[in-house]
Amino acid sequence: MNFKDYITIVPNWPKEGVQFKDISSLMNDGKVYKAATDKIVEYAKEKDVDLVVGPEARGFIVGCPISYALEIGFAPVRKPGKLPREVISYNYDLEYGTNTLTMHKDAIKPGQRVLITDDLLATGGTIEATIKLVEELGGIVVGIAFLIELSYLEGRKKLEGYDIFTLMTY
Ligand code: AMP
Repeated sequence: MNFKDYITIVPNWPKEGVQFKDISSLMNDGKVYKAATDKIVEYAKEKDVDLVVGPEARGFIVGCPISYALEIGFAPVRKPGKLPREVISYNYDLEYGTNTLTMHKDAIKPGQRVLITDDLLATGGTIEATIKLVEELGGIVVGIAFLIELSYLEGRKKLEGYDIFTLMTY
């Protein structure tokens, strides 16, 4: 199965010059969504993962089926003001301005082996922030899985030292 056949590339969205990789067409085909999920499940089994962590919103789409398949937990990473209980936060820089991500303080038991999931690795800023949150809570990041990697943005450089799995590379 060529997964790239199921990615819709939308030129100049959300802004001029961006080639948006739309995974909703992949998810829309149940067999392809399952096949993509199965690949990441295999990877997670190799890594002996016991918790999946993903940033909103597409990190949930990739990560939650992995949790279901392996009967392990999922912990959401969210923008400020979305999680109802005590959180930890991490701020990071964007091209213009800054961003903050949060996690519930009790989302990870120290020593848990964590798989981080997201739809796409671009600059790596989102996942770098997610790693900081997981490690602050005592989790061990044993792998990071994406459907898509935009290799020309060199996000891997930011994630040096971590094991990365990607299904498709552009
Ligand atoms: P980054 O922090 O730069 O690695 O990118 C963060 C998030 O932005 C990714 O998880 C994607 O959801 C989204 N994103 C960035 N670039 C693209 C793109 N070209 N197509 C689709 N989504 C993108």
